[in-house]
Amino acid sequence: MRRKILAGNWKMNLTPLEARQLIRALRAAIDPEAAALARDRDVLVAPPAVSLAAAAQELAGSNIALAAQNMHYEDQGAFTGEVSAPMLKALGATHVILGHSERRHLFGESDELINRKVRAAVKHRLVPILCVGETQQEHDAGKTTEVILRQTRSGLEGLDGRAAARAIIAYEPVWAIGTGRTATPAQASLVHGTIREIVAERFGTECAGAVRVLYGGSVTPDNVDGLIASHDIDGALVGGASLKADSFARIVRTRAA
Ligand code: PEP
Repeated sequence: MRRKILAGNWKMNLTPLEARQLIRALRAAIDPEAAALARDRDVLVAPPAVSLAAAAQELAGSNIALAAQNMHYEDQGAFTGEVSAPMLKALGATHVILGHSERRHLFGESDELINRKVRAAVKHRLVPILCVGETQQEHDAGKTTEVILRQTRSGLEGLDGRAAARAIIAYEPVWAIGTGRTATPAQASLVHGTIREIVAERFGTECAGAVRVLYGGSVTPDNVDGLIASHDIDGALVGGASLKADSFARIVRTRAA
């Protein structure tokens, strides 16, 4: 039985002070149910790098884990503007989102670069949340499976079965991110099944049964239950709706988890 994951990606939003305020409000909403929620689900938030330290302080004593949104694959060096896995770990991060479509498409990150980051995260015992997903154009051209195959295979290249089983994969169709258009549970399930087949082919069925595959793309309190109810959808990576304590708290409490 895979534990569900409800993860909030804050993107380039919230200063350290604002991050503290949001976490306080979120904790006020979900802490009373924390023990019950912790039985079958993991919750995490991914603030921007500058707000990680403040977020870590506010999360102390909670069951909410801390994720970063990106990192460099080297530990240190002449990489102006970058942060490394050891730096993220020093701030209390346990997870890192890698290969988000905004990194791929706005900042030109290649499959190869993303794989280097995934391997560096694993080396430092940060759990990678590898994002994969097709653009609208690829979707319309019937290339979804091809894109998912390439991004998933490449993203997990060089990992052993144990690391792959611990990794989290987020299927985020680019056409659904921030657009208000969500994949239907059936559409998402189909792709999640494909991702699990790719993992099985490379790492075996036990690993494929353990790896958690999240859906992301305009998840809201209104559609989360329908998505999470699907056996193949192990949780949600949430952008916009994670920036308000009440909406993310409702998503965290999803009945179907
Ligand atoms: C995301 O940024 O990962 C995301 C899914 O955003 P949104 O929920 O706003 O579509």
